[in-house]
Amino acid sequence: MRLGVIANRLVLIDKDTAVDLEQASKGRFPADPERVFDTWDALVEWAATAEPEGERLPLDGLQNPVPAPRQVFGIGANYRDHLEEAARAQGHEGEIPVPEAPLIFTKFRTSLTGPYDAIPLPTRNVDWEVELVVVIGRHAERVAEKDAWSHVAALTVGQDISERVMQLAGIAPQFSMGKSFPGFGPIGPVLVTPDEFDDPDDLEIGCSLGGQVMQTGRTSDLIFSIPELISYISEVCPLLPGDVIFTGTPAGVGVFRKPPVFLQPGDTLVTWVKGIGELHNPVTAGPGYSATADQNGDK
Ligand code: ZN
Repeated sequence: MRLGVIANRLVLIDKDTAVDLEQASKGRFPADPERVFDTWDALVEWAATAEPEGERLPLDGLQNPVPAPRQVFGIGANYRDHLEEAARAQGHEGEIPVPEAPLIFTKFRTSLTGPYDAIPLPTRNVDWEVELVVVIGRHAERVAEKDAWSHVAALTVGQDISERVMQLAGIAPQFSMGKSFPGFGPIGPVLVTPDEFDDPDDLEIGCSLGGQVMQTGRTSDLIFSIPELISYISEVCPLLPGDVIFTGTPAGVGVFRKPPVFLQPGDTLVTWVKGIGELHNPVTAGPGYSATADQNGDK
């Protein structure tokens, strides 16, 4: 099943068009995106055989498909090639240590935005991170890895936009703050259930800036897989239906390039996961942004 949100109502995706869910299901399933996980299993079962009828809507109006998750988790340092580029940029040589446990932070939910919404820059130090995003469908508490996929409702595409100075400054890094400015969490364009993929643990992801490919990777290269992440997080925090997990980014971010590259007003960031779709986010100057003045931490 492929599901989205248009005009703040749930829509079923049928090839290149969308149909209002409430209309297509003759009122059985409500249009409110915040209630979709109340009846998720019944919806998936119905959608498997339904012939959706109703007015056909164009897909260019798709919005954030999970507008109000109760918890948003992010995972740092979860691809080996990303660890290697960070180590190289910082002058480390020799063997790269791999984390013994997932590095967890939150993106506060006000940072979430839609697949075609603007990313307003607060500073000149804002970077991109393509990520596969997991959406929880069923309460998960102390879940074993072998049972983890049964708690996943859907997968979607995400960008873990990051202000690198705030993220890395201070006596302990501020991942959650540096990654939570408004517009720093585009997700979408649609939710896709795991059964739609040949192998949901091996998806191709990437992003481009101004037409130049910046990142490519495969989720089979995750250091901590989706089942491992769900098991690890749910040992501490029960995962609730609708919760969102950004699973980490592969190599190719801007901060570790020589010289570093950051987002600029006028850029368009295109982000994809094969089998799900693409985000197209225009980059704009946000409040306080200055193209020339020295900003805190500029080098
Ligand atoms: Zn990230």
